[in-house]
Amino acid sequence: MDDVAIIGAGPVGLALAILLAQRGRSVRVFEQRSAPVAHSRAIGLHPPAQKVLEQVGVGPAAQRGGVQIRGGLGISRGRSIASMDFSAIGGQYPYVLSLPQQVTEQLLRERLEQLAPGSLMLASAFEQVLGQSGQSVEFAAGGALHRARWLAGADGVRSAVRTDLGVGFAGRDHRDSYLMGDFPDTTGLAHTAALFLHQEGIVESFPLPGALRRWVVRIEQTQGDESPGTLAEAICQRTGYLLEAEACTMTSYFGTATRMVPSMVHGRVVLLGDAAHQISPIGGQGLSLGLADAQAVAHLIAARAPIEALDDLRLGAARSTARRAQVNMLLGRALPRWAVPLRDSAISCLASSAWLSEKVARDFTMTGPGQRSIPVA
Ligand SMILES: Cc1cc2nc3c(=O)[nH]c(=O)nc-3n(C[C@H](O)[C@H](O)[C@H](O)COP(=O)(O)OP(=O)(O)OC[C@H]3O[C@@H](n4cnc5c(N)ncnc54)[C@H](O)[C@@H]3O)c2cc1C
Repeated sequence: MDDVAIIGAGPVGLALAILLAQRGRSVRVFEQRSAPVAHSRAIGLHPPAQKVLEQVGVGPAAQRGGVQIRGGLGISRGRSIASMDFSAIGGQYPYVLSLPQQVTEQLLRERLEQLAPGSLMLASAFEQVLGQSGQSVEFAAGGALHRARWLAGADGVRSAVRTDLGVGFAGRDHRDSYLMGDFPDTTGLAHTAALFLHQEGIVESFPLPGALRRWVVRIEQTQGDESPGTLAEAICQRTGYLLEAEACTMTSYFGTATRMVPSMVHGRVVLLGDAAHQISPIGGQGLSLGLADAQAVAHLIAARAPIEALDDLRLGAARSTARRAQVNMLLGRALPRWAVPLRDSAISCLASSAWLSEKVARDFTMTGPGQRSIPVA
């Protein structure tokens, strides 16, 4: 019997498996896919996430492969109205590391294979929990029966583990939708993030490794056209930057929602990452939140501490992250023309306060006082 069976080989499930293997626990990861997905999805690794990557032993490789975003600009009507400098947050990582999610996952898979060879079971979908006792949980996955001391559902927003247990996922859809894509960087903005506060909706732009740039454009709703040409046209119209549609490496459309489980702990089954909380990708903090969940779950299981502490440790952090994402989305909505100068003046005025700038930098990098750190040992 394995100590911990993990459903889902996304970044959160993989990180949890490594953290447990490092502590001498036997792990097995069940993944429904037969091969990894090549999609850059989550690119922002905030300082707490970088600490987890260091803890699991892939920190130096991630740092070598990523781009350090050390600050950002707010731009409206062609001029900079605010700037953010992350050096104010101090610490070992005074920056957000930009690294495509498929690279993060590859580093984690390789590390897991080093520590627990053969523990990742591909093409093995979770089916159902068959029963739980005080000591173990029995479940079906990949067409076979398994037993483990703990079962961890890290199987994403549409979690089959959560659905099977009948756990609620309360929340709501937001009216904010976005088109995003990665293009060769022709902006000259280098490693700076840029937020273009256009009257018709925000355009966000972040550096990526390989001289690429991620663009995210707020739209009212999808017209069913996610082509690079449509995206490049919207970016040009709102920012003035002319991008090469033919050289685009990825486009996708996403809607936004906030949902959360009432509890992450259900007997000997725990839910974590997106399976436990869906956060809008605006602000890019979902992955960092999930990696910190993995750290907390690994710590509690390895220390044989009461697992019920998980809700107290992590659900509050999820709620704060969700609130930040909602504020970010609000700032990026379309405005009537007359309101734009008022908004710009308000942002310029607020940004001139050193105290407020540092607070915003801390919120943006998830290094504010509300972040509870999990013991590393
Ligand atoms: C467009 C977009 C951009 C984003 N940008 C950012 C960003 O910049 N920064 C950030 O921090 N976050 C971002 N996010 C959020 C981030 O991608 C997620 O928070 C993160 O992937 C969650 O990781 P996870 O491991 O919990 O779930 P997932 O990455 O969804 O992984 C779940 C895994 O479980 C597997 N699975 C599902 N069902 C089963 C089953 N029945 N049996 C076995 N396996 C199963 C899936 O195949 C998958 O491999 C973004 C999200 C989106 C959609």
